[in-house]
Amino acid sequence: MLKKDFKAVLVSMSGVRVYNQKLLQLGLTLPGFVDRSKVIASLPSLGLLTIAAHSPDNWAILYKELDAITEASIDDILNEAPDLIAFSSLTARINETYALADRFRQMGITVVMGGLHVSALPDEAMPHADSVIQGEGELIWPELLTDFQHNRLKPVYSSLTNKQYAYRVDCHKVPRYDLLDIDKYNRLTLQTTRGCPLDCVFCAASRTISSYKKKPIAQIDRELAAIFEVWQRPFIELADDNTFVDKNWSKELLRLFASYRMKWFTETDISIAQDDELLELLAASNCAQVLIGLETAQAMSLTGVDRNNWKLRQFDTYLKSIEKIQSYGISVNGCFILGFDTDTKETFSHTEQFIKASHLSEVQLTVLTPFPGTALYRQLKQQNRLLADTYWDKCTLFDVTFTPANFTVDELESSFQELMGSVYARKTVAERKRTFKQTLTNKITSTHA
Ligand code: SF4
Repeated sequence: MLKKDFKAVLVSMSGVRVYNQKLLQLGLTLPGFVDRSKVIASLPSLGLLTIAAHSPDNWAILYKELDAITEASIDDILNEAPDLIAFSSLTARINETYALADRFRQMGITVVMGGLHVSALPDEAMPHADSVIQGEGELIWPELLTDFQHNRLKPVYSSLTNKQYAYRVDCHKVPRYDLLDIDKYNRLTLQTTRGCPLDCVFCAASRTISSYKKKPIAQIDRELAAIFEVWQRPFIELADDNTFVDKNWSKELLRLFASYRMKWFTETDISIAQDDELLELLAASNCAQVLIGLETAQAMSLTGVDRNNWKLRQFDTYLKSIEKIQSYGISVNGCFILGFDTDTKETFSHTEQFIKASHLSEVQLTVLTPFPGTALYRQLKQQNRLLADTYWDKCTLFDVTFTPANFTVDELESSFQELMGSVYARKTVAERKRTFKQTLTNKITSTHA
């Protein structure tokens, strides 16, 4: 191997802890809830693996994950004697990231930060980093490292304000999956699209980093091949916000997926239910599950959620669409948000009934959360309804961070806990799994009939 002149350690601040103690205690006994948090914790940071691929040849790159900050984990990084440390962090762990970054900088190590939170609030991050990457990092990273070598690092590099840094289809490289200790993961991530055109008011992911973009199918093929080099039978979770927006492109993607031996999962909107050919290709490509943001079990809460009320117009089709998608043998994980301004006490019992009637194979319940950079954040801030100026460690999706319209904070918390308790009760989870298994059996029987 060539001798490298410089070394960068890329640190992913993985794992999110729920603040609400009652929910946490409850969560420990909730199979669906615990399973899901384990899955999230075991995903590597694709953003860091991607910029790693764009490093100049004279840089050695290491990848580390910090689920918990311990003196041993800090020593582990320091022992590498890095010239530069780059962090990617979620909002819920940004305070820990800032504290750790401050510590490394006091030791004279250059710190760079990127990711969703600092892209939304670069000014907040700047006192904790020598340089902040706002938006997409592929084209910024090599320039930033070269600037570091020449002692001319800029405080902010932004693909949002400087379009020359925005990702283009001719600038992609295969993420450095080879940097991972592969035995630690039960899933690997692959990105096929970035952003989402629906623009929901609470969604940070859909536009903070980039507008909606698709990767060329040939590039996705190269990235899949790289995954198969490190893992023969992978389970792949797409790091997309909304994969099947462009149906023709999606069909090409699914034909490619069908040529690989893998199981996979992604997030989509419910429009896939209207395209039989796409559903057939989805089933044939071994898609295990799609996660769909249904958002609510009552239509009025969807008013104004996305730019053109598209989700509101789909609401009446929800039950039929879920049934249709699952009839292809694809499990649907339906996501619901509690705490909209139109939600009342009845919304909780209504949500429980809706979930039962839907026969969703899996369910995700979350509390409405105003992430920085979203329209929801701006609205609640303007209305003086945020519970604190910075409440980032409570941005877990399970903690209440604002004054709800029709409840006190305590009421929203306790109604949410109650709903979690019934939706994730062992018996109810088992019943959902049993019903979906029956759907699979019916599908096999009808295929062979
Ligand atoms: S559909 Fe999903 S990914 Fe798209 S903007 Fe809405 S919440 Fe975000």
